[in-house]
Amino acid sequence: TSGYKAPNTEGSILTYKAKYDNFIGGDWIAPISGEYFDSISPVTGQAFAKVARSTKEDIDLALAKAQEAKAKWSCTSATERSQILLTIADRLEKEKEKFALSETWDNGKPIRETLHADLPLAIDHFRYFAGVIRSEEGSASELDQHTLSLHIKEPIGVIAQIIPWNFPLLLTAWKIAPALAAGNCVILKPAEQTPITVMLFAELIADLLPAGILNIVNGFGPEVGKPLARSPLVDKIAFTGETSTGRYIMQYASEYIKPVTLELGGKSPNIFTASVLRKDDAFLEKAIEGFTLFALNQGEVCSCPSRALIEESIYDEFMSLALDRVKQIKMGDPLALDTMMGAQASQEQYDKICRYLDIGTAEKATCLTGGKPYQNEFHPDGFYIEPTVFTGKNHMQIFQEEIFGPVVAVTTFKNEEELKAIANDTQFGLGAGLWTRDMHQAYQIARSIDAGRIWVNCYHLYPAHAAFGGYKQSGIGRETHKMMLDHYRQTKNMLISY
Ligand code: NAD
Repeated sequence: TSGYKAPNTEGSILTYKAKYDNFIGGDWIAPISGEYFDSISPVTGQAFAKVARSTKEDIDLALAKAQEAKAKWSCTSATERSQILLTIADRLEKEKEKFALSETWDNGKPIRETLHADLPLAIDHFRYFAGVIRSEEGSASELDQHTLSLHIKEPIGVIAQIIPWNFPLLLTAWKIAPALAAGNCVILKPAEQTPITVMLFAELIADLLPAGILNIVNGFGPEVGKPLARSPLVDKIAFTGETSTGRYIMQYASEYIKPVTLELGGKSPNIFTASVLRKDDAFLEKAIEGFTLFALNQGEVCSCPSRALIEESIYDEFMSLALDRVKQIKMGDPLALDTMMGAQASQEQYDKICRYLDIGTAEKATCLTGGKPYQNEFHPDGFYIEPTVFTGKNHMQIFQEEIFGPVVAVTTFKNEEELKAIANDTQFGLGAGLWTRDMHQAYQIARSIDAGRIWVNCYHLYPAHAAFGGYKQSGIGRETHKMMLDHYRQTKNMLISY
């Protein structure tokens, strides 16, 4: 097959309801305001379903349900919670095509990415934490001659989880799998731009969890996210989104001294050293492919390699190869299996990227390819932008600010000292890519870059068992990896004299 049929059309594997309520206390509850907002598909630019527009009153209800549920859930065994996570993964796997189609429709990313990245990663995340939580069963306590010292890990309680629109289902998995595995109750607020796949997910697993353990409340940041984060009944906030919103979240958390996990923005460098061009071989091929990954997910990835740093001595030759490859990125219908780049997630995001294309031109960066919207013959009203390569200097706005689109800003470096200075000259510290045939050089450079994840001779791999998170203003804490469990637990020590 060359592609998938759009949802709600004849023969499609996916039919949406006209209206989605909140999922609170195990039930589908209409918003107390009675209001709904339109969910718009960036593929077509058209509204396709309505979603609850919640307010503080809906949050209060969800919190009451979570508080009711928390005592029972925190006493369940790791085995029991693990089994539920495994069942969630199995159900998602069974319906993987339907969910992939929904992510494409909801977010705009091409179906080949949702099928081969978003879905498998989300499924694996549930399986990973199902395993991690069981691996702790039966661990021994510390003992001396007269005192028994017990360290008991207890869930934190009710967790507010607020997520953005760039990976709606995957970030739901990243957030809820470790929180539930650790025995917490959750109130999740999806992004207002992409709520629908998360609601399909709630339908898929509604009968699995006792009422009140997972609640999903939709709406806008200031109307729902803010009262949720500020409530005294929330014991911890786990937030993914923009650095500027992260600052508010920290303020809200300070009111009741709540712990926070923040996964924020980035401006990650992708570094190509001279050794890349030493031979014309598979390694060079892979590096060129690595350059084009700024356009993966339409560039709407927190760790997007949105700056490319190329050693001066190879610049001309490498850029000529890289540009050829960027021009081969196939745009088109996001539902077609060979489409490589889809729609930007919303009109607002599309407008923001267009503004940055103008800024790049105004600050005299040179546009080598792209630089304008893409006229999509299949969906003329969707939000499409061509993959864009600018060259310029690291002080420019397009090098310093997160554009969150398919735009890479390229510059050169003469030696390792200059490379480190440019790579670290940013408020962010989320990721970095490094391409070199010399492993000694790789280690030295990787240690000197202030970022939480360094990909060496690869990029955009996100396995559940590798810790991911930011240095500097890219965040606090980590997502993924078993260390995540301790972001959702506190340690109680009991000293027992005998
Ligand atoms: P955003 O900060 O605008 O919104 C994120 C979420 O916060 C949404 O659900 C929104 O409704 C909510 N929100 C907005 N204002 C709020 C407030 N005052 N109080 C409480 N909640 C509020 O971010 P976005 O535009 O949706 O997402 C893009 C950003 O997310 C980018 O900066 C990207 O780098 C970042 N991101 C980071 C990671 C990571 O792991 N570091 C992953 C994905 C995305």
